Amino acid sequence: MTDAQQRPLLVAGNWKMHGSRVMVAELLQDILAGLPEKPAFQVAVFPPFVYVPQVAETVADSPIRFGAQTLSEHDAGAYTGEISGAMLVDFNADMVLVGHSERRSLYGESDQQVADKFAAALRHGLKPVLCVGETLAEREAGQTNEVVARQINAVLDKVGIEAFGKGVIAYEPVWAIGTGKTASADQAQAVHAFIRSLLAAKSDTIARLLPILYGGSVKGGNAYDLFSMPDIDGGLIGGASLTGKDFLAICDQAQKVATGA
Ligand code: PEP
Repeated sequence: MTDAQQRPLLVAGNWKMHGSRVMVAELLQDILAGLPEKPAFQVAVFPPFVYVPQVAETVADSPIRFGAQTLSEHDAGAYTGEISGAMLVDFNADMVLVGHSERRSLYGESDQQVADKFAAALRHGLKPVLCVGETLAEREAGQTNEVVARQINAVLDKVGIEAFGKGVIAYEPVWAIGTGKTASADQAQAVHAFIRSLLAAKSDTIARLLPILYGGSVKGGNAYDLFSMPDIDGGLIGGASLTGKDFLAICDQAQKVATGA
C-alpha cells in the first residue's frame, strides 16, 4: 500500500455562518441520498454551533462525520459566548476546525491561541483540523512556506509531533478562499509536500500518515486534479458545501480518485 492509499480522502464542508433548520435538514437529506452506497472516502460537515445537535441527530448511523468551526481553548468557566470541546463531545461531534483564516483575520486569533485550541480539541478527544495558509501579499513576497511553517511550528511547539497523529491539516491559501481563484493542483501540491517534509523532520511516520486537505474554491470541476495529487488528501469546502448538488459533485470526484475509476 502506498502512503497516499493509507490516507483515505476526506471531503469536508465548512458551512460558515450559513443555514437554517430547514436548510440543514434539506442539505443533509440531499447529501445522504446522493452519496455512494459505500463511499471510498470520508465525509464531514462543520455546521454553525446551534445546528450541531440537529446534524448529530440526522447523521447518526450514516457515513457523515461532523464537528464545529472553532472551540474555546478553555475547558469551562466565565467565557461568555464560548463553546468548549466537552460541549461538542456531548453532542457526539468528533472533529473541529481550528485556526480557519477567517478566525485569524476577523477575530484576531494568534498562532498561540490556535495552538491552545488545537491542544483543547485533543484534550477532549476531538480531531483538530488545523487550517493554515498565506495571504496574496505573502505569496507574492515569496513567503508562503515561511508563513505556513510559522503557523504549524506554533502548534508543534505546544503539543509536539505525536499529537499530529490525531489531527488533520488543511492548507487554505487565503487568496483562494471564497474568491473563485483556486491554487493550481501543482501549486497546492508544492505546499502540501513542503508541509509533509516539515513534519517528517520530526517524525517520518506521523508525516506519512497525516491527512493534508486543500481548501480554496474547490468545485466539482477542479476536485479531481487536486485530489489526484500525491500529497493532497481531500478538500475543505466552503461555498460549494452549501448545496447538495455542488457538494456531491466534489464527492463524486473523490470517489473516482479513491477507486481509480
Ligand atoms: C473555506 O472557507 O474553508 C473555504 C475553502 O471556502 P471556499 O471553498 O468557499 O473557498
